[in-house]
Amino acid sequence: MTFDDLNLIDPILKALKEEGYTTPTPIQEQAIPHVLEGKDLLGVAQTGTGKTAAFTVPILQVLHRTAQVSNHAPRAIRCLVLTPTRELAIQINESFGAYGRHLSQIRHTVIFGGVGQNPQVAQLKRGVEVLIATPGRLLDLMNQGFVDLRQVEVFVLDEADRMLDMGFINDIKRILPKLPAKRQTLFFSATMPGQIQELASTILRPNPVRV
Ligand code: AMP
Repeated sequence: MTFDDLNLIDPILKALKEEGYTTPTPIQEQAIPHVLEGKDLLGVAQTGTGKTAAFTVPILQVLHRTAQVSNHAPRAIRCLVLTPTRELAIQINESFGAYGRHLSQIRHTVIFGGVGQNPQVAQLKRGVEVLIATPGRLLDLMNQGFVDLRQVEVFVLDEADRMLDMGFINDIKRILPKLPAKRQTLFFSATMPGQIQELASTILRPNPVRV
């Protein structure tokens, strides 16, 4: 199996070739077709398995399919990725940039705590389709009225078990009600203890695809 067998559009295939990727990893092979079809996903995967491309690549394609043509139309956040650490957030943002480099109309940005908020707010005001965030800073900027999640079509919860370990569960519970109920959700965790399964079942639609 190669990336050419996954029904990906040329600008994405070109970017993957430029990254030097030829063969999808097992999680990419399993996840990409389902994400392209709009299915919810429960992914048990560690970092290092190619998990990031398994969701960023098909999300870029889904967003591109229905991207706004006019440069003047206001941009709405159509995809939210929540991840526990600044390092992961930066890495995911870079992945959207790398795999989406030939899809110039998909803007993305990253927000995380521990740094000044003004440059992040400026990016949000410019408008982005994809927002990658750590939970605390996201809530903070939501509470100040800088983030509107009402147009989100795809929600990714990354490293759910680490989110819980790091004490982000209450932040996540405050963010969830601000997302549309009708959405696609991708849920990733390296481990699946009972507490994580419960969280997954409240966030995902029934019978998600398991990879
Ligand atoms: P991740 O598990 O998403 O953190 O990815 C781990 C590393 O594998 C990253 O450095 C990616 O750039 C790289 N990678 C992801 N998918 C592929 C692929 N299909 N072929 C080669 N390298 C990949």
